[in-house]
Amino acid sequence: MSDLPPVRVRFAPSPTGRMHLGSARTALYCYLLARRTAGTFILRIEDTDRKRYVEGAEQELIDGLHWLGLNYDEGPDIGGPSGPYRQTERRAIYQKWADKLVEDGHAFHCFCTAERLEQVRQEQQKNKQNPRYDGTCRSIPLSEAKKRVAAGEKHVIRFKMPTEGETRAVDVMRGEITWQNKDLDDTVLLKSDGLPTYHLAAMTDDYEMRITHVIRGSEWLSTFPVHVNVIRALGWPEPTWMHLSVFLKPSGKGKMSKREAADAIKDGHSIFVMDLKDLGYTPEGVLNWIVLMGWGVAEDDVMTLDQMVERFSINNLNPSPAAINFTKLDHFNGTHIRLMSTEELAGRIKPFFERAGYSVDEGILLKLTPLIRERLVTLDDSIPFGGFFFQPTVSPAAADLIAKDLTPAQSAEVARRSLDILSKLPDLSHASAEPPMRQYVEESGLQPNQVFGILRVAVTGQKVSPPLFESMEIIGREKVLERVQNAIKLLESL
Ligand code: GLU
Repeated sequence: MSDLPPVRVRFAPSPTGRMHLGSARTALYCYLLARRTAGTFILRIEDTDRKRYVEGAEQELIDGLHWLGLNYDEGPDIGGPSGPYRQTERRAIYQKWADKLVEDGHAFHCFCTAERLEQVRQEQQKNKQNPRYDGTCRSIPLSEAKKRVAAGEKHVIRFKMPTEGETRAVDVMRGEITWQNKDLDDTVLLKSDGLPTYHLAAMTDDYEMRITHVIRGSEWLSTFPVHVNVIRALGWPEPTWMHLSVFLKPSGKGKMSKREAADAIKDGHSIFVMDLKDLGYTPEGVLNWIVLMGWGVAEDDVMTLDQMVERFSINNLNPSPAAINFTKLDHFNGTHIRLMSTEELAGRIKPFFERAGYSVDEGILLKLTPLIRERLVTLDDSIPFGGFFFQPTVSPAAADLIAKDLTPAQSAEVARRSLDILSKLPDLSHASAEPPMRQYVEESGLQPNQVFGILRVAVTGQKVSPPLFESMEIIGREKVLERVQNAIKLLESL
């Protein structure tokens, strides 16, 4: 099935905000690689940054993954053999490895106060130097540091970055990268609250959870050398690394700002996964859209999740930035809607009708679904095209009942003749109603859109609707005749 043995991959979001497209794509690639290799997909919640913690964010991530169908094998809500899967529940593990780094001389206690570090930073800025730790506590003998820690002095643990030589590491998408160690900082691994930073926590968990492939955002490239140094200092096996491309705003110029994200929503789009659900996008459409933002496929680009699994390969991942193109989202969403069976699509649009306040009759729902399918970009588009089917009455605007180039009186005459024809038919099926109405159009010398336009507005209450005769069949004889009568009255009153 795949040239790789079963992988263990993790999606490791921080619950610091809403789940956006970037996280969804990372999760998707992790999922694809896991399923492709019959491996394991893990959800790990990286919640050690308590200042940025957002209540409810973890649930939104879980809901987003479930909605997209990216089901994980181990995670905080389902457990698993490598748990716990929330980092705040793993404190003792990080402390143990931080202590080992200190004992082995790869890390040190740092007692510098925030004020002193700020002074150093300002000084460095003034001298046009890169801001970094100035090494003050590096040389404190361990025995002395331990005494100070035992006496309760506030401290952090910093990694003792090698000061000479270079660090090399490989990202499979980007090749080998080299850093000069003199440019690297003594990064904080354990904070004064006893919680680890990402740099210790993620590396530790990747080791403890036996992660084979780390797929993460390219914002981690700058601290990548820290991570490989930590891993090497601990003598752990190194995973295969992939830093995914960044997403740019639709113009391709820069990353999406908060304001632009809000503007997208006004426009009927969003970069947040659960908004896309509410807007009527399908998981199939969203997945197909994001999978291609960074993964090159040769031919047919319309794929279900299972087809992506069959075709996925990390060799085709592309590190170039990808601009968010909502037109493509609309394209993929409409395409996947048209691939659904009537029953499937009916089930998907039903909640949208209900949300709009309609009480949904299943029989009508199943009949109208094929009529509107072709026109849908989102599931929510069902409402303007199909909502009237569930209304007991319609209230067309008088002006809409007047056909182009006809007076109200002439339009009323068309409606009367139509009523005459339709009321004589035994039923109003598409097959019975269309031929006599077409014959009338021909004999009258009117344009089809004049006659059918009046009829459409009369029976559906709106100028745009699914095909007229199919719609009349669903609405039913009694209601159709009653609505045409009402339209005649309205036109005659003008
Ligand atoms: N918690 C990190 C983030 O949300 C995860 C990065 C990673 O996958 O290692 O950016």
